[in-house]
Amino acid sequence: IYILAIESSCDDTAAAVLCNNNVLSNIIAGQEVHAQYGGVVPELASRAHQQNIVPVVDQAIKKAGISKKDLNAIAFTRGPGLMGSLLVGTSFAKSLSIGLKIPLIEVNHMQAHILAHFIEDASAKKPVFPFLALTISGGHTQIVQVNSYFDLQILGETIDDAVGEAFDKSGKILGLGYPAGPQIDQLAKLGNPKAFKFSKPKVEGLNFSFSGLKTAILYFIQKETKNNPNFIEQHLNDICASIQHTIVEILLDKLKLAVKQTGITQIAIGGGVSANSGIRTALLNSEKKYGWITYLPKFEYTTDNAAMIGIVGYLKYLNNDFTNQEITASARLKL
Ligand code: ATP
Ligand code: FE
Repeated sequence: IYILAIESSCDDTAAAVLCNNNVLSNIIAGQEVHAQYGGVVPELASRAHQQNIVPVVDQAIKKAGISKKDLNAIAFTRGPGLMGSLLVGTSFAKSLSIGLKIPLIEVNHMQAHILAHFIEDASAKKPVFPFLALTISGGHTQIVQVNSYFDLQILGETIDDAVGEAFDKSGKILGLGYPAGPQIDQLAKLGNPKAFKFSKPKVEGLNFSFSGLKTAILYFIQKETKNNPNFIEQHLNDICASIQHTIVEILLDKLKLAVKQTGITQIAIGGGVSANSGIRTALLNSEKKYGWITYLPKFEYTTDNAAMIGIVGYLKYLNNDFTNQEITASARLKL
């Protein structure tokens, strides 16, 4: 079965072709325009998707070494995401489905960040149901109990900022470019994670909060730079290491609680922040420390990509779960 998958929920235009659960091509066009604004500008994102979508899809089909006529279905991201961005991929998928007379499959972006673990990869073990998924990305922070491909239950989520935002907004305070997450990760490798201490939020149960951390970092930097204008450049590595260490501890604390509450010790992470070396190391260490079995996605399937949309498309295809031309994009689509 050949599936064409399209992802356009935020600022990456992506297309992939899968043959069953194997990825034949996985093309991503990022959008440089947003960097100068320090964040994604929705109107510019949808315009760039409009420009990129045809060449990106063409390239995905070409690289897969197949022809459009070989495709059995089209999977697309219905939501959640930016409405103007989602509309481009949704409309394109619907049109192509009419043109090629093949069925359409709607995909939830957050489910895709989790099910990316089921993309065929000889070098990686696949999670066994039920498992806990920690989805950490630019717009979400969730702990999900995954009972099957299609039975997902949110156990906790952020009540304010997402963890990716915590990285990006802290980076902005430090004068780093957007997105700051990957830069903080790199700088943190050279710093002392215990150099500075930031207090962790007190949120009940399995929910998260990250807006207080951002404010704490802002006040800390304001105070220190008042005494020493060069504070940031002199201590950048230590600041980044300390921020990352705090964030990883917050995530780990909640995972420990989720394991305690559910008795499930299989943990998968997904979403852009699952590329972070601090969280990856912490998860690997937890295997020995707590006896967990952990699953880390391949780097190319952490941040937004269409291969993860394709694997959900394939699983839904096997389940005969198709949609039709009435379907509309949904910015706040729930899991
Ligand atoms: P969502 O999936 O919630 O709709 P999104 O699709 O915009 O949001 P992703 O592409 O999944 O988000 O993730 C992007 C986020 O991941 C950004 O906030 C970015 O800073 C963060 N990120 C990427 N790599 C790293 C890293 N190595 N360390 C920390 N954060 C990272
Ligand atoms: Fe995402």
